[in-house]
Amino acid sequence: MSDLAGNPLWIYVIVAMILMAGYALVSSRASRRHSKILEANLREGLGEPASLHPVFDEKKCFGCKACVSACPENNVIGVINNKAQLVNPSHCIGHGACKKACPFDAITLVFGSAKRGVDIPFVSAEFETSVPGIYIAGELGGMGLIRNAVEQGKQAMKAIAGKIKPGGDESIYDVVIVGAGPAGIAATLAAKEKKLNYLTLEQDSLGGTVFNFPRGKIVMTAPMNLPLVGKIKMTETTKEALLQLWKKIEADTGIRIHYNVGVTAIDPESNGFVVSTARQKYKTKTVLLGIGRRGSPRKLNVPGENLPKVAYQLIDPEEYAGKKVLVVGGGDSALEAALAISGQPGTVVVLSYRSEAFSRVKEKNRARIQEAMNSKRIQVMFNSNVRQIENDSVTVVQGEQVFCIRNDAVIISAGGVLPTEFLKKAGINVETKYGTA
Ligand SMILES: Cc1cc2nc3c(=O)[nH]c(=O)nc-3n(C[C@H](O)[C@H](O)[C@H](O)COP(=O)(O)OP(=O)(O)OC[C@H]3O[C@@H](n4cnc5c(N)ncnc54)[C@H](O)[C@@H]3O)c2cc1C
Repeated sequence: MSDLAGNPLWIYVIVAMILMAGYALVSSRASRRHSKILEANLREGLGEPASLHPVFDEKKCFGCKACVSACPENNVIGVINNKAQLVNPSHCIGHGACKKACPFDAITLVFGSAKRGVDIPFVSAEFETSVPGIYIAGELGGMGLIRNAVEQGKQAMKAIAGKIKPGGDESIYDVVIVGAGPAGIAATLAAKEKKLNYLTLEQDSLGGTVFNFPRGKIVMTAPMNLPLVGKIKMTETTKEALLQLWKKIEADTGIRIHYNVGVTAIDPESNGFVVSTARQKYKTKTVLLGIGRRGSPRKLNVPGENLPKVAYQLIDPEEYAGKKVLVVGGGDSALEAALAISGQPGTVVVLSYRSEAFSRVKEKNRARIQEAMNSKRIQVMFNSNVRQIENDSVTVVQGEQVFCIRNDAVIISAGGVLPTEFLKKAGINVETKYGTA
C-alpha cells in the first residue's frame, strides 16, 4: 500500500482503468441501444437507404463515433460492437457529413444497395442529359440536400444561358423549368437574372420536398448565394421559416411560377421541345428538370379533385382534428394516414379502397387497421371508387350502391409515377446503381 502511495504512476494507471471501464460500459449500453433501433427498423421494412448513403469499412472503423456526432439527423448512424453502421437506413438523406468527419477514411458514399438499385440519370459536368437541350439539377441527379440543389440549379442555368441564342419568336421559351423545389427556385432566379424568356411549372406548391417535411422539422443547411437575392446566411432553421423565406424571395424578386401544373411529357421537335401538361403544350428551346426523386402522385381524375381540400400526402395529422376525412388507397401510406388522423380528437375517418382486401401492407399496419375497424374508429369501404368530390361531400360508389358522404378533407394515397419512368419517356439515359459511387 505504501509502495503504491509512493509511486504516482499507479494512480494514473488506476484512473485510466476506471475511465476505460466507464467508457466500455457507456459504449456497450450505446451498442445495445443502437442494435435495438436497427432491429426495429429492419422489422418495419426501413432497412434500405433512399439514395446517397455511407458504407463503412469494418477494417478501418474503430468505433470512434465521430460520424455519429457529425450526422445532422437523429439516430441514423450508430456504433454496434465498435463498428459504425446505419441503424436507421431509410432516414439517411445523404448529408455526407459522416464521411468528412471520419478520421480513418473508413466511409464511402454510394447510391443504392445490392438489394435495391437507385436510378441515376446520366448528366454531363454542365448538367446536360443524354438528350441535348434537357438539363437536370438537384436531387434527381443523385445529390441530395437543399444547398446542393440550389447550387446545381444556378450552375445548370448558367450552362443553358451560355448555349442558347436568346430572343427570336416570343412564343418559344428559352427554357422551361420543371419543379419549384430548391433547384427549381434557384434556376428560376438565375433565368430571370440572365433575362431569359423562361417558364416555371410546379405540380404542387413552392418549396418541393421541404413543403412535405413534418411540421417544425429542423432543417440543416449551409449559407447560400442566390441570384437576384445575394447571400443567405442560414445553417439551421425550421421548415416553416424556410418556406416563408422562399415566399418572400418569390414576392420580392417577382419571379413567376405556375402552380398546380404537372408536366406530363417532353417531346423533341425541330430546334427544341414541346412540354405537355394536362391542359396545354409549350414550345421551348431547352428544358431544366428539377423534379426531385419523389415522383408525381397518381390522380383519380374525378370531378372536384382540384379543390383545395384535396391533398396527396399527409403532412400534419393535427390539422384534421374535428374533421370528416376521406382517405383513398390501400397501401401502407394510406393506412398510416387514416390511422394517424383517426388518432386526432373529433375526426370521422372513412378509407376507400378499390380492391376487396389489403394486400402487400406491413403486418403491423394490417393489425392496427383491423383494430380501428373493430372499434369503429375508421370505416373501411372495400371495392369502392370515388366518383366526385364536392365542397362539403364526396360521392363514393360501392358495387351497385352510391354513397354521398359528408366530408371536409380528402387525402389520396394512390401511389405515383416515379421520375425514372418520366425520364425514360423523354429518352434520357438512366443507370441503375447497386451500391456504387
Ligand atoms: C425527411 C427529409 C428530411 C430532409 N432534411 C434535409 C435537411 O435538413 N437539410 C437538407 O439540406 N436537405 C434535407 N433533405 C433533402 C432535401 O429536401 C432535398 O435534397 C431537396 O429538397 C432537393 O431539392 P430539389 O429541388 O432537387 O427537389 P425537390 O425538393 O424534391 O423538388 C422537386 C419539385 O418538383 C415538383 N415536380 C415533380 N414532378 C413534377 C412534374 N412532372 N411537373 C411539375 N412539377 C414536378 C415537385 O412537386 C417538387 O415541388 C431532407 C429530405 C427528406 C425527405
